[in-house]
Amino acid sequence: MTPLRLIPIGSMNPGVMEYLALVLPESTGLTCVRAPWVINYTEAYLNERGQYHSTRLLDMIQVQADGARASGPCLGVTELDLAVPILTFLFGEARLQGRFAVVSAHRLHQAFYGLPGNSSLLLNRVEKESLHELGHLAGLRHCRLSSCVMAFSTSVEQVDLKEAAFCDRCLPVFEAWVQGWQNRP
Ligand SMILES: [Zn+2]
Ligand SMILES: [Zn+2]
Repeated sequence: MTPLRLIPIGSMNPGVMEYLALVLPESTGLTCVRAPWVINYTEAYLNERGQYHSTRLLDMIQVQADGARASGPCLGVTELDLAVPILTFLFGEARLQGRFAVVSAHRLHQAFYGLPGNSSLLLNRVEKESLHELGHLAGLRHCRLSSCVMAFSTSVEQVDLKEAAFCDRCLPVFEAWVQGWQNRP
């Protein structure tokens, strides 16, 4: 089975990485391995915004994956605040039907909104947004069902409305994608 690689980018709360490595195999059916690749994220810094260009991070993950001859899906996990020039911020980005995705916990913390910290809520949100980005890798676009993990979220309130699961329409597409990796050496 080709594993899903989890790549910490920048200084990461180890609890978040451990949680994803624990829950993603259950929720996706993929084995997860941590890839200790060095991503020079400072090169993705957008000076004028104080954020990090997520598409550049995807490019950097790709360079590392190519160097390591890693053929499977790769998910960068970061606390950096992500953006692209046309959007104020992103919870994550993925290449549709590609192999590279990134998810950010930055705006998933209650503290970001001036609220008391809640680590189980944070982990739940990171899991959902990770599944969402993996869904894009599987070729899924945004789903109209607000409870489906593929629903488009522009706020944490919308993230909280979703379940950490694909709806009946999205699930078969995702499962077929997972199976493709399960069948590969
Ligand atoms: Zn999306
Ligand atoms: Zn759906």
